[in-house]
Amino acid sequence: MDLISQIWEIGSPESARDYLTSLAKEPIRLQNFINNKFQDQSKASSWIDSFDPRSGKPLAQIPRSTTSDVDLAVDAAAKAFPSWSQVSRQERSNILLRIASVICSKKEVFATWESIDQGKSLARAKVEVERAISNFRYFATYILHDEGSVRFIDGQSSTLTYEHRSPVGVFGLISPWNMPLYLLTWKIAPCIAFGCTGVAKPSEVTSISAFLLAEALRQANLPPGVMNIIFGDGPRAGSALVKCPRVRGISFTGGTSTGIQIRRETVTDIGKHVSLELGGKNPTLIFDDVNLAQAVPLAASAAFENSGQICLCGSRIYVQSNIFDSFLSTFVEYVKENYQLGQTIGPVVSREHYAKVRSYLKHAQEEGAAFFTGGVPEEDPKHGYWIAPAVLGNLPHDSRVMREEIFGPVVSICSFETEEEAIQLANDNPNGLSSVLLTQDVSRMRRVGERIDAGLVWVNCWLVRELSTAFGGMKSSGVGREGGAHSRDIFTNLRTIHLLM
Ligand code: NAD
Repeated sequence: MDLISQIWEIGSPESARDYLTSLAKEPIRLQNFINNKFQDQSKASSWIDSFDPRSGKPLAQIPRSTTSDVDLAVDAAAKAFPSWSQVSRQERSNILLRIASVICSKKEVFATWESIDQGKSLARAKVEVERAISNFRYFATYILHDEGSVRFIDGQSSTLTYEHRSPVGVFGLISPWNMPLYLLTWKIAPCIAFGCTGVAKPSEVTSISAFLLAEALRQANLPPGVMNIIFGDGPRAGSALVKCPRVRGISFTGGTSTGIQIRRETVTDIGKHVSLELGGKNPTLIFDDVNLAQAVPLAASAAFENSGQICLCGSRIYVQSNIFDSFLSTFVEYVKENYQLGQTIGPVVSREHYAKVRSYLKHAQEEGAAFFTGGVPEEDPKHGYWIAPAVLGNLPHDSRVMREEIFGPVVSICSFETEEEAIQLANDNPNGLSSVLLTQDVSRMRRVGERIDAGLVWVNCWLVRELSTAFGGMKSSGVGREGGAHSRDIFTNLRTIHLLM
């Protein structure tokens, strides 16, 4: 039986682990998906090892695709584009709904492998699989109801003017490792819904759910070549995709430094549509009128969900000084009780990421930070990449720990006196992705919310998502927005037509 048929049937972490054990020394080897066919990788010259974050043992091997692999996939997408761009919206919608149904029928399988590959809890993986299904359903129906704009020019009833959109062409879709399926489908669904074709490149760190997704696309009878999936690393496969002149758009989610490089590499190709969703160092502002019983769990979940490996996590907590001590003690107790390693909190994704998070904790220790909980983990982890949640204090505002994205289970806490100071501290950072504001004061919700440098402001909530609204960041956190009409703008070209009748 081929690999995809084997793992397609495994729907629980226990059976996945039995299966992996039965493979003995042979890790699973993923295959590129081009023209609806899994490619024969037996001649692949180079593989990337990927490891189980919970144990540190080898899990899978990812083909290190080359420029010629990318070219093959782009050929397929370019060949499929003329006919796919002419397929009716109703038919595209039907296919997207079929993809959603196939994933839905295999929810447990997707969640199982996502949880094993990324290290996230099964519960968290299930939420993300549901969101992936919603991505397809949302864009399937969006395209049926997008109204556009048609009117007669004022005072000239014989001149009709209207906006016409056409799909841009072949897209490169590049995604990170933290929410692998959810973030990749957030690009694939609008890409094919708006009539584009594409080559997707998931992160080499967590590629398994994209391999499963390829099978879902095949089973849903998406026409060959419309969506191709290439596995490999950023410097080779990712960069080849970005630089390819036949690729007319790039939708990228990942780190800010990679985003800067992509911007550099595409700057002279003026017509290329480029959307960049990048990193964050998000503030959580807590005012003295909050109910601590509600504020503490919310701030903790914003800090530690998925082990702090969500771009929207609130990793800088600012608390008004008159409630600082009571907030801190309640928060630390809550974190110790509710975020226990191996239960509610998983490992970080990889050895490299473990070393990165550890280096920030070490730096904090050297700077004399207070560790209210957590500490510096061992240098050479032998049994998986486990880092206990850390709550830090007494760090200067200009510390690297306070300014740079760590992307792990690390949060720093400090106090502020006034509303003005809270805004100034929140905005004193190069990033501007998201923020959380906790207060009961309705006028403050708007007064402060409208001045925070962040593409997303959550007031008394976190991670609330409505797919029609704009998603994206300010400042170093990105360029462009995704969601609803914003995704449409990425994947379509707009022309205005004046028609004298
Ligand atoms: P990364 O930038 O290292 O990699 C992201 C993707 O880009 C991967 O598929 C990688 O292979 C590819 N890549 C790397 N170098 C490339 C290059 N030169 N050209 C083309 N592609 C290249 O990011 P990561 O470590 O996988 O993910 C973590 C980062 O993603 C964090 O900074 C996090 O904040 C960010 N993120 C942002 C959002 C958002 O919506 N703004 C969502 C999730 C994660």
